[in-house]
Parts: sequence; structure tokens; C-alpha cells
Amino acid sequence: MRIGILALQGAVREHRNMLLRLGVETTDVLNPGDLNGIDGLILPGGESTTMGKLLVRYDLLNPLSEAGRKGLPIFGTCTGLILLSKHINNSDQQRLGLMDTCVERNAFGRQADSFEADMPIPALGDEPYHTVFIRAPYICRAEQGVEVLLSYEGKILFARQDNFLAAAFHPELTDDVRVHQYFLSYFCRS
Ligand code: GLN
Repeated sequence: MRIGILALQGAVREHRNMLLRLGVETTDVLNPGDLNGIDGLILPGGESTTMGKLLVRYDLLNPLSEAGRKGLPIFGTCTGLILLSKHINNSDQQRLGLMDTCVERNAFGRQADSFEADMPIPALGDEPYHTVFIRAPYICRAEQGVEVLLSYEGKILFARQDNFLAAAFHPELTDDVRVHQYFLSYFCRS
């Protein structure tokens, strides 16, 4: 199995290391040709306005959304969750717009710019999962068809729809491989 990682900006190396630990080959995606032959794609955290502009500059915006629409499994973390969403509150920034969700950016306010918490995520098993949030967004609205995997105080933090998986937190910054493993096992063909 080979997984692409969008490598325009952000936490690329951390995702790569996680996948290498799981014995999976990776490809940095920097142009449309890099999508050939991959079994899934990770959109890392970073800054979503910048990443949206870079997607346009590198001619990747349309090829990526088309690949997603054709069934390529895509896992977005943080900025990646924003890019996957059809709606972004108060913003017309570039996005892939593949999930029937509406997101609120930088949603936890200044005092909680970044925080960590152990959360129960039944889809990952009994053991709580250590979530790391950095200037995190959350999903404030999800249409039918979106399955919520974690929500906290009405904020959706982890969700899936069809071939898309989105997390408001950063699984690549922990030691716990379960979220990446979940993406590989349930979304990407082996
Ligand atoms: N706040 C950032 C954005 O809007 C996301 C932060 C992150 O990816 N850690 O893109």
C-alpha cells in the first residue's frame, strides 16, 4: 500500500513517520502526477488559507477534489478537515469541498489556542485517545451521511463520510498509531 501526503506545507514529516512505523510506503504529493498509484491521501495540518492558495498555485485543487469524488480515500487533520468541508463559516477561502459539513476555524479562542485531552473514541477501541489541538477548527454542522466519531460539548471533532475522514486534532503528534491505522484499515485497500 502507498499513501500520498500533501506536502505543500505543514506537518508532513510527522505523518510520514507515523505511516513508516505502520510499514506503509509514502509519496509526497506536490503535483497532480503524484496522485497516480496511491491508495489514499493525507491532508496535514498547517494554515488553511495558505494551503488553499498553494493548492491553486500548484494546480492541485481540481485534481484533488476530482480524485476524492472518484473515491480516493482522503484523511484530513486540522487544516485538512477545513479543506475537506463544503462550508467554512465567514470565509470564501479555497477548499476541496468534499464533505457535507460546516466548520468554524480557530474555534477554541485565544486562551485555548492549543490543548490536549484524553477522549473516549469508541471506533478506536476501549482505551481513551490522547487528542492534541492546535488552533483547531471544529465541525459545527454535519448533514445526514456524516458519521460522528467524536464530539465534545456539541462540537464535532472527528467524523467520516464515504471515503473521507476528518480530525480536528493531530494524531501525527502522538505516539498512538490508532487513528492512522483506522484510516488504513477502513478506507484504503490493501
Ligand atoms: N487554524 C488553522 C487553519 O485555519 C489550522 C491549524 C492547524 O492545522 N493546526 O488552517
